[in-house]
Amino acid sequence: MRFEALKTATSRKTKVSNKGKVSFIKLYNSNVFDDLAMRDFLSKEAYESVSKSISEGDTINRKMAEHVASGMKQWALSKGASHYTHWFQPLTGSTAEKHDSFWEPKNGKAVEKFTAGALVQQESDASSLPNGGLRNTFEARGYTAWDPSSPAFIHENTTGKTLCIPTVFVSYNGEALDYKAPLLKSISLVNKASTDICKYFLKKVSSCTASLGIEQEYFLVDEALFNARPDLVMCGRTLVGHAPAKGQQMDDHYFGSIPDRVFNYMYDLEIEAAKLGIPLKTRHNEVAPGQYECAPMFEDVNLAVDHNLLLMDLMDEMARKHHFRVLLHEKPFAGINGSGKHNNWSLITNTGVNLLSPGADPNSNLLFLTIFINTIKALHDNADIIRASIASASNDHRLGGNEAPPAIISAFIGSKLTDVLNAFLKDTTATDEGDQKSINIDNIPVIERDNTDRNRTSPFAFTGNKFELRAVGSSTNSAQPMTALNTAVANQLILFKKTVDKAIEGGTDQKAAIVTELKKALSSSKNILFEGNNYSKEWAIEAKKRGLSNIKNTAEALRAYVSEQAMKTFVVNGVFTKEELQARFEIMLEEYIKKIQIEGRVLSDLAYTYIIPPSIEYLSSLAFNIKSLKDAGLEVGDAQPHLVNRISEHIDELKNGVDKMTNSRKKANKMKDTEEMAIAYNKNVKDSFDDIRYHADKLEQLVSDKLWQLPKYRELLFIK
Ligand code: ADP
Ligand code: MG
Repeated sequence: MRFEALKTATSRKTKVSNKGKVSFIKLYNSNVFDDLAMRDFLSKEAYESVSKSISEGDTINRKMAEHVASGMKQWALSKGASHYTHWFQPLTGSTAEKHDSFWEPKNGKAVEKFTAGALVQQESDASSLPNGGLRNTFEARGYTAWDPSSPAFIHENTTGKTLCIPTVFVSYNGEALDYKAPLLKSISLVNKASTDICKYFLKKVSSCTASLGIEQEYFLVDEALFNARPDLVMCGRTLVGHAPAKGQQMDDHYFGSIPDRVFNYMYDLEIEAAKLGIPLKTRHNEVAPGQYECAPMFEDVNLAVDHNLLLMDLMDEMARKHHFRVLLHEKPFAGINGSGKHNNWSLITNTGVNLLSPGADPNSNLLFLTIFINTIKALHDNADIIRASIASASNDHRLGGNEAPPAIISAFIGSKLTDVLNAFLKDTTATDEGDQKSINIDNIPVIERDNTDRNRTSPFAFTGNKFELRAVGSSTNSAQPMTALNTAVANQLILFKKTVDKAIEGGTDQKAAIVTELKKALSSSKNILFEGNNYSKEWAIEAKKRGLSNIKNTAEALRAYVSEQAMKTFVVNGVFTKEELQARFEIMLEEYIKKIQIEGRVLSDLAYTYIIPPSIEYLSSLAFNIKSLKDAGLEVGDAQPHLVNRISEHIDELKNGVDKMTNSRKKANKMKDTEEMAIAYNKNVKDSFDDIRYHADKLEQLVSDKLWQLPKYRELLFIK
């Protein structure tokens, strides 16, 4: 398989499908039921109803929905779509769809059909999707319901087109069974909470929007080589594989020129993304060989999340078209960088003010400081929840893996803002390059944007006008961390406003009340600020002294979802019910267990059927040779017996390790409590993978290359 794959991979020709004839401007949104399409295909009344629903969250009544359905159908048919589907985000990590045709037989003829009912709501027997006990088996119904704030779009496959309608997915009793429903709640919560804060400062602001720009890192591997690796096919990551002599140490891949075949894949991806209105803006080589990144312009959070999910689908499709496979796993290869998904987040008013952008005058700076400090306080109080929101079996390899932020949640704000905050607390002056600037209440300084300070090691870095949650894993649905962040910040802003309003009612001047509360918020949360190297051992020690959590694995991190703080943040604000949190906790634990279980099985398969057989084959050829030499009365020397011994030892260790792991797995499977099982899976199963792998990788180094069946790291990473 390996040699066949190598032959195929090295003789690929670049597939050029769109030679310079593309107008992105024309393509943009051409497969989206966007504002222009709605104006064309909807009555004035229906158009206004949808627009109002998008901008103000109004519900669309049934009669209007009928009009919208009819217009949407006409548009989709004019584009050549034959089917439609509700497109939703169950708790599986990927998106789901079930297609229905636009036509039905009637009196022996086929007629077009798509009603308001089909647009607005669909019933699906979704008992096969994760529900964490929320759906009793006798009431297995789930519903998908239209989300008008994310436009419908047409997904093109090579042969057909499907109208996709973004929806939420809820149980018969209305509990969220997906990522989108809580996200939408958190968005309206944070939008309202920040609008209320704006009222202190900017009277004209009537709404705010949480915005999100997602940087997406990924690997590309040749399809033939990918298919020859059962671990990549089954787990998305390599479970064995000796590190190549050359990895990323030369720093020659980052921002290097993009290989032609990869470039063509990217170009096709950008074309498809443009059609779906995904505003892809950047593309480049990342640090590791075979690793790349793309990022769109930021959009409102809901749309950005939907677009990222679509983008991941498109990446997979386009990669296949070019005979690559895209790896979205957080850590496909040991020893070289993994992939993240940086979530750039801020709050923007309907008047166009970025609330995380330091302003030009003292008044707007107090607004900036209010949002800024409260965000830090929110992170501080909800650090464990944020940690849980990015937890997954795959991201565990990355967090703390010396290339990504550690599992300790902290925030980086840059030296200038550190000075400003220190001075703010002391009511004194901030030193700015020798320049004394007053920071007292009446004279809050102009805070300049600091573009020079960067900290690539921080999980939550302020980058001038936005926070960048860098700890999110590359395969994650960003809805989850964004729901946590939005809700945490909203909750803090609500608490903050309550106290300030009370002080104002009691006769305190508004500005003084705000400043007093900000100081309190900052004092009680500033131990989460860290400017140094997050990868260092010293930080782990320091963080422990500060009392910050360092929860290294998912099995333990998830408990935060059912903690007291989760009740205060999520339940009080109506983003999740207690039952929904409990269900999510269960689902995520189960997902964790299953992932490790699959990896464990694949690893033992690989050991027994891919690694031990060629090792034995090589061993027996050596033994045969030694015997022949001896029989012929010739000198045997040290090398061959030595090799035989080493290979034998590693085979034994490998087999023993795998058997022990399998036993631990079986033991863990008997546990009744899901959390206990997850912890056992982490400790007794996953934690043994590295030792097992060590012997497999040693064998790869010792056994003749000719016999080795699994494509090697150097081939996976460097052939393109
Ligand atoms: P870098 O982090 O490398 O400096 P950019 O400044 O281009 O890169 O930002 C990365 C991402 O952050 C992009 O998706 C960009 O659109 C997004 N972004 C920029 N400003 C904001 C903002 N105010 N809110 C949310 N995302 C933003
Ligand atoms: Mg960035």
